[in-house]
Amino acid sequence: MTSYVGVVDMLRWIAQTGPERIMTEMADAIEGDFRRWESFDKTHRVASHTPFGVIELMPISDADVYAFKYVNGHPFNPARGFQTVTAFGVLADVHNGYPVFLAEMTLLTALRTAATSAMVARTLARPEARTMAMIGAGSQAEFQALAFRGVLGIDHLRVYDVDPAATEKLMRNLVPRGFEVIPCASAAEAARGADIVTTCTADKAVARVLADSNVAPGMHINAIGGDCPGKTELDPAILERGPVFVEYEPQTRIEGEIQAVEPDFPVTEFWRVLNGSAPGRTHSEQITIFDSVGFAIEDFSALRHLRAGVAGTQLEQTLDLVASPEDPKDLFGMTNLPVPVG
Ligand code: NAD
Repeated sequence: MTSYVGVVDMLRWIAQTGPERIMTEMADAIEGDFRRWESFDKTHRVASHTPFGVIELMPISDADVYAFKYVNGHPFNPARGFQTVTAFGVLADVHNGYPVFLAEMTLLTALRTAATSAMVARTLARPEARTMAMIGAGSQAEFQALAFRGVLGIDHLRVYDVDPAATEKLMRNLVPRGFEVIPCASAAEAARGADIVTTCTADKAVARVLADSNVAPGMHINAIGGDCPGKTELDPAILERGPVFVEYEPQTRIEGEIQAVEPDFPVTEFWRVLNGSAPGRTHSEQITIFDSVGFAIEDFSALRHLRAGVAGTQLEQTLDLVASPEDPKDLFGMTNLPVPVG
């Protein structure tokens, strides 16, 4: 039988454990897997693009566990009553190939994306950072805020969204949780005085939601919304202002902010900073840029973290996903057996 965590049980897990604690612990799990980067069999994701958006498969494996995620990105969805991003994912046993765990990943992706952003910022942002600007207040935004508070202690937010209702929604969700939230009239206003700037907008376009003039010395930029060919958020001049860190370079070259610059533009895969083979921030005035597109190792870590968290509890159900005949060579024989009615 394959273990299964659906939306309702995922919500129960989040409610029981608390999203901030989950993302703080998940950040450590993701960091642990980034530290053993070379033990993974990696590939960039497989994407199917249409004018509506993109549907992607994200596979990854180590010696024991294979994982993949199905995820979409449809920027015009909210206007039609659908979410921009939805996902589900699978863990399989490398030794026999059987799927052992299946989970909803729309919520889990938001948790893992924010945990990854905070994990990277913990190393690259100035240690005294307390204020974050958020450009884009959609589905990912509250998760980002909570992860940054859990991992870095960020509790002051300066928020700008082109849709004032999105900012109001964010305030409704985060002010009761103890954040100081300042709604801003522009990205420039939001970035003013911020230690960290998170861009999490969705538009299938080469956008410039953050201008070079908005970026001040010492800032860490966490750019998560530019994650598809032809979909970027930053003024390319920002990329020249400081070192650019990426997850998996072959994928980010296709999907990240660095689409906007030459193919040999220098970047650092972040795992190298963790293992000491490349520098991170070298001085407090330096501008650091995390060009995040989301990489399969983060899903692998998140699925395993969830699986460990729900193991043996009522939060995991079982699914008869794999046909298992008594004689492994007689699959057809199963069709001769009486089928339980029900
Ligand atoms: P969403 O559609 O729920 O929210 C996006 C918000 O951005 C909306 O509220 C919209 O009004 C706002 N916006 C659009 N243009 C803007 C602009 N110029 N200035 C300010 N606000 C603007 O989307 P979401 O689920 O929150 O996802 C945000 C982005 O993050 C998407 O592009 C998605 O593909 C990406 N994403 C990246 C990762 C990753 O790992 N890097 C993971 C998940 C999602």
